[in-house]
Amino acid sequence: MDGLNSSGGFDASPNNLESFWMPYTWNREFKKNPLLLTAAKDMHYTSLDGRQILDGSAGLWCVNAGHSRERIVKAVQEQVAKLDFAPTFQFGHPLAFELASRLTNMLSGEFDHVFFCNSGSEAADSALKMALAYHRARGQGERTRLIGRERGYHGSGFGGISVGGIVKNRNFFGSLLNGVDHLPHTYSHAEQAYSRGLPEWGAHLAEDLERICALHDPATIAAVIVEPMAGSTGVLPPPKGYLEKLRAICDKHGILLIYDEVITGFGRLGDSFATEYFGVEPDMITCAKGLTNGTIPMGAVICRKGIYETMMDYGEETGATIELFHGYTYSGHPVAAAAALATLEVYREEGLFERARELSPYLENTAHALKGSKHIIDIRNLGLVAAIELEPRPGAPTKRAYDVYRHCFEKGLLIRIAGDTLAVSPPLIVTKEQIDQIFETIKEALEATD
Ligand code: PMP
Repeated sequence: MDGLNSSGGFDASPNNLESFWMPYTWNREFKKNPLLLTAAKDMHYTSLDGRQILDGSAGLWCVNAGHSRERIVKAVQEQVAKLDFAPTFQFGHPLAFELASRLTNMLSGEFDHVFFCNSGSEAADSALKMALAYHRARGQGERTRLIGRERGYHGSGFGGISVGGIVKNRNFFGSLLNGVDHLPHTYSHAEQAYSRGLPEWGAHLAEDLERICALHDPATIAAVIVEPMAGSTGVLPPPKGYLEKLRAICDKHGILLIYDEVITGFGRLGDSFATEYFGVEPDMITCAKGLTNGTIPMGAVICRKGIYETMMDYGEETGATIELFHGYTYSGHPVAAAAALATLEVYREEGLFERARELSPYLENTAHALKGSKHIIDIRNLGLVAAIELEPRPGAPTKRAYDVYRHCFEKGLLIRIAGDTLAVSPPLIVTKEQIDQIFETIKEALEATD
């Protein structure tokens, strides 16, 4: 077999790494100096060279219950052997229905329908399309404008990058969707640096939505999409009162509010969803990642009462045999649904959302204790997430964080980087000792970095 060394392991020489065009990766550098993971269990990865690596980022914010959990592995194995695939258009299988009701029952508000897809990107695109279809079905087809936010990330689809606010994710890819505006992001270094939890300053930034409404006529706006806490752009907890204001302005103008909970869903903030944590309900919630504990790709859009019904009424009136012209071959895939059901059981049985809430002050204190360490210009946190922002190396933005990240890996720790910010978001099974280890390793790496 290609790529094996004499003892049967993978030979990570440049030849064997060439063909895979890696996503969101510095490919040229990686292939000179690869980081390869070959196994994982609970809180640790095993690297190609056989070292145990503490997972400080739950993979990519998704392995909330820790790696290769017995119950999930078994559910996947059994399901793939029993029903590997079922057509998803005009057919169904029991697990997808069971999972949909499990998900709506996790929310205290009136959320009553779930649309399945395969990723966070697809969930964002699905939610945007569903918002447009909903308005059209109600006779408000002129509501076509979509509002995102600067520093928002909603995946890599054309819809997601259009409403997303990451410049580099957009500027190579043409003119994108028409009729998109962006709210300002909610971060101010001057006003918020080193705040713990939700920053006091910044709720007024939601009022920018009124400016956008005045500019275009609010009756042309379909939906606003935001991450309740922006994750991939450096962990930006919302200012106190911000989501409330956004909700009120959306209500005033009949605009749907979508929360992208791809990161915040499934316990990351110490509650099932950020929707519960903040007590401010959107009209749709997108989720993925922690839904299956990262095991099998799956995403979902959870809808508040009224959205599905509107489409059904429209179908009834028009005699349609398909009410919403949208879907994916793998929507509600049986193996993914089995993984998700087992994952939700693990979360519930082990009380992992409560555990995240209980550990959150410890993570906060441990993270903020690094204040004053070399290169640090801000520390932020919420739930079981902490971010350490570094002063960029002059003329080389993101390179310092990259060096710290590499150093951490050498010392047995995996974290995430977002620009010049280090993000820590361990599986919710993390112990206090492991939290200590995470920040000690980061401190050491900072000291070792120019
Ligand atoms: N939305 C948010 C908030 C995310 O953090 C991500 C992934 N980091 C996505 C969407 C995209 O998810 P995926 O990579 O599964 O498409």
